[in-house]
Amino acid sequence: MIYDYLIVGAGIGGLSAGLNLAFNKKKTLILEKNSLPGGLVSTFKRGRFEFDTSIYTLYDYGDDVHVGNLQELLNKFKIDLDTKVIPFNIRLTTPNNNLVIRGEINDFLLELERLNEGSMLPLKEFMKITKEIHEAKNLLLTNSKINYDKYPNFYKYLDYDAKSGLRALKVPEDAINLFGFYWLELGSPLNKLSFIDFADFMYKLIFKKETILLNKNLDFTLKLTNRYQELGGRIYFNSHVISITKEKNYYLLKTSDNQEHKAKHLIFDVSKRYVYTNLLPGTKEINELENARSLSPNGVVVYLGLNRSASELGLKNYKYYSFSTLNSENNTKYMTSLNHDTFSAYVPNVVNPNASPKNTTILILKQTYFDEVFNTLNLNNYAKTKEEIAKNLIANFENTFKIDISEYIEEIEVATPVTFVRYTNSVNGSLYGYMAKGYDNPINRILSYPDEEQSDFTFVGAYSLFGSHVDNAFYSGYYLTEQLLKKKEN
Ligand SMILES: Cc1cc2nc3c(=O)[nH]c(=O)nc-3n(C[C@H](O)[C@H](O)[C@H](O)COP(=O)(O)OP(=O)(O)OC[C@H]3O[C@@H](n4cnc5c(N)ncnc54)[C@H](O)[C@@H]3O)c2cc1C
Repeated sequence: MIYDYLIVGAGIGGLSAGLNLAFNKKKTLILEKNSLPGGLVSTFKRGRFEFDTSIYTLYDYGDDVHVGNLQELLNKFKIDLDTKVIPFNIRLTTPNNNLVIRGEINDFLLELERLNEGSMLPLKEFMKITKEIHEAKNLLLTNSKINYDKYPNFYKYLDYDAKSGLRALKVPEDAINLFGFYWLELGSPLNKLSFIDFADFMYKLIFKKETILLNKNLDFTLKLTNRYQELGGRIYFNSHVISITKEKNYYLLKTSDNQEHKAKHLIFDVSKRYVYTNLLPGTKEINELENARSLSPNGVVVYLGLNRSASELGLKNYKYYSFSTLNSENNTKYMTSLNHDTFSAYVPNVVNPNASPKNTTILILKQTYFDEVFNTLNLNNYAKTKEEIAKNLIANFENTFKIDISEYIEEIEVATPVTFVRYTNSVNGSLYGYMAKGYDNPINRILSYPDEEQSDFTFVGAYSLFGSHVDNAFYSGYYLTEQLLKKKEN
């Protein structure tokens, strides 16, 4: 059988592309190399703990009243999730700051005003602009004209980076750095991040809030997979695509278990760099194809199962951030070394008492790195280096937040860039797809998509147009298959 569409990878982008194609009655096959769907969004068990690998926050989902775009799309496919909107509950430290951000956006703004007088009014103005920018960006996706009179700020700020945009709005310098803290661990300097992209993210955060899943990651990805199958889509697990050849009027894909599959159009939930290096080597110049894209940082994640309740341990916040500095440009420089002080931690039990068995706690520590910090790893030093990084990260958390955890560790698992490469085929273990940086931002990617598009191949997921995170990976699968379906109709 020759499929209309074959999707390589059942990550969020691949599943969303599959859902939309199956919904539109296209003969679709997904090949996934692992035995479970979801890619980076997964769940694994160690002893009595079930650890989620991602979705510590679901963005742009909202609740019944403030319905986010992601929820709207999932509703369209009749996928219902058990979720909860949560207020800010963050502890943040830098060498000069130690603060707790709790409550709603206004509480955050009041705290910023207390620390940097004069920041409240310009930030309120910024909030208004985010709404306009979000609406304009959505129009762009439906190929509609963006009326200048209605969306003047979209045009005004189109070429601004986040830092100069906030400066133009007269937000005090220190408040800019603190307001942009979400981007620090992603390694995105605010002076290289598009203002439009920044404003769109902040719109989702401010107006649709942060949502958590009340069930495990795997429950979510199985729901997506089951619905895809109900709609007639086919999926094969343990099917690692290892080569692609072009035949007369279809593509032939071979998997590592010696199966062959045929399709007219291929959709990749992996990076161009991986595809043209591993599946179609030598066919295209990668730099040219990537259009000056750069990889996001890689990282280490330490998953801890602790044998005490969060309150007994003194873990009161959902998220903990430690930053070497709040200056995002300098922070990116520190991230090129293995020993730096920027890391984050999540305690799901603080927002979801059912996250782990009674009187236990899950704690997740994450640190990200740029460049080739991990290139010194080899078979002889891998296990030792991994253990050392985990130990340092745990000690760093304990010292920074003055909370003892070491003696309560019942389970520990450590994921390094090697783990991520092995599990998802991400190049270099990159955690967040291609960076949205400088000229290469989602708006420009959308605008230049018709030139960049390849006739029989579509790239979805975090390496696609919108960038990382579950909402963006999902949109890319949906939006790009919508374009394909429209094109075939014409
Ligand atoms: C530690 C961590 C925490 C995160 N936290 C959040 C969060 O709180 N909120 C949020 O929104 N986002 C979060 N993210 C980001 C989010 O998880 C990702 O952006 C998103 O899941 C990426 O989806 P994707 O479609 O790009 O595919 P991926 O998850 O990369 O999946 C690609 C799939 O393709 C498969 N594949 C690869 N090569 C082949 C092949 N040759 N043959 C067959 N199959 C193949 C892989 O096995 C995989 O299943 C986090 C990411 C990480 C790493």
